[in-house]
Amino acid sequence: MSCHLRVLALAIEGAVRVPVMKYVNPKKLNLVVNELLPELSPSDFVDAEEYRLSQKFTALPIGSGSFSYFLLHPDGEVISIDCLDSEEVERSRESYRLSTILAWGAERYPALAPLIPERPPEAEDCPLCGGSGTDVSVAGDEMTCVWCSGLRWAVAEGKAKATTEES
Ligand SMILES: [Zn+2]
Repeated sequence: MSCHLRVLALAIEGAVRVPVMKYVNPKKLNLVVNELLPELSPSDFVDAEEYRLSQKFTALPIGSGSFSYFLLHPDGEVISIDCLDSEEVERSRESYRLSTILAWGAERYPALAPLIPERPPEAEDCPLCGGSGTDVSVAGDEMTCVWCSGLRWAVAEGKAKATTEES
């Protein structure tokens, strides 16, 4: 590759990096998460493992599901770690995933709330809650929809992929 082409390739790479976080402003996200990270204190954690993981991955703990811990890295990466095997780590840069993590995380860190994206035109009503944002637990309690985390919308995987996996 000639030098000129290389510069062009870098420019294109820079341009397509944007859609990876097409719903969220990466600079703002970086700023907010980097401000929240140093405020974490071990005494605030009911689960010491969650604090340990936040330090290990330099990422904000968002919550845990039945099988995984979910953390948000300042660069917008969503990190999920197996609850039983902390070596099993999955990293995602999918825009919709990030959007739901922000909606979920905003309940814990209000500073994340302004980062939650507006519903994009290609979105559809969430298939689980039908756009209400809430769901009913097995015990009959109203809870935040586990699919969309209260976003109310979802992006079909094919559509999200077309715009997120260009890089
Ligand atoms: Zn939903």
